[in-house]
Amino acid sequence: MNDRIFGTSKVYGILGCPVAHSVSPVMQNAAFMAAGIDAVYVPFHVEPGDIGKAVNGLRSLGVAGFNLTIPHKTSVMDFLDWISPEARVAGAVNTVVNSGGVLKGHNTDGAGLLISISRDLGMDVCGKRVLLLGGGGAARGALAELLGRDVGPVSIVNRNTETGRKLVDDMLSSFPEANINLHGYDAIEGILPDTDLLINATSVGLGGEKICGLPLELIPKIAKVYDMVYGPVQTPLVRRAIELGIKAVDGSGMLVAQGELAFMLWTGSMPPEGVMKMAVEQRVNLART
Ligand code: NDP
Repeated sequence: MNDRIFGTSKVYGILGCPVAHSVSPVMQNAAFMAAGIDAVYVPFHVEPGDIGKAVNGLRSLGVAGFNLTIPHKTSVMDFLDWISPEARVAGAVNTVVNSGGVLKGHNTDGAGLLISISRDLGMDVCGKRVLLLGGGGAARGALAELLGRDVGPVSIVNRNTETGRKLVDDMLSSFPEANINLHGYDAIEGILPDTDLLINATSVGLGGEKICGLPLELIPKIAKVYDMVYGPVQTPLVRRAIELGIKAVDGSGMLVAQGELAFMLWTGSMPPEGVMKMAVEQRVNLART
């Protein structure tokens, strides 16, 4: 890596806490190298209370762009000069472009999810009945993008009703015609048989745990399952869906697609096809050994 950093190299990075687990440096550096772009992408560990100082530091240093991960996607918004409409609706920024000193915030998570649903599940969400589990940042980004794509009715199930209600109210203020309803886990049995696409946007499964109160056998066999969670081993949700003969994927395709869109925002072109995906697969295989 060192023989490709020069005095002219542009610097990009990711701000998170923790950040050491992030696959983004591997993905983005592989893409810069494959595209022959003189740039480097590095991880920055930033404590939650330090995000403002960190952003101003990056601005002073002339860093060309950066990603945000947990817990900075919302708090960073106070320190940017401009925020895209989709990031505003989602209430979160995951990509910042330094445009001649003006810091512009975008959200590529939602669009990345939709690309991955199309690429990896072969599904067009238009008119589809969606069951969305979760009410956090990932659910927000997903919902903002789905509602902009003429999706069918969306049932949202979240453990914390207050967070779920706030999510629904915020989305309805941007999409007043949206057909979205909030439910508790006790309603899932009635919703699953009328579901075309189940999306898990909770953090359940990261440590190999199952989603409680989800009788997946009730979902139609032709439905599809998207688990935003990803890791070195198959998530329990994906494993169960596949056992039942239901097409299912984890969130690694979304990770790749959001990264490709960030690269596009920074460089003006998409990375060479398949490079980021291959970098992620190599990293995951390494973690398995
Ligand atoms: P948040 O912390 O903002 O939200 C977590 C969500 O999980 C909340 O809705 C929370 O519900 C729910 N939850 C947590 N524990 C439980 C439980 N035991 N039972 C039911 N619900 C639970 O996280 P994010 O929204 O940012 O991320 C969610 C997941 O999505 C993470 O695993 C993250 O890695 C993944 N993700 C993947 C991406 C990708 O590129 N593939 C991109 C972004 C996120 P409650 O409100 O009730 O607390």
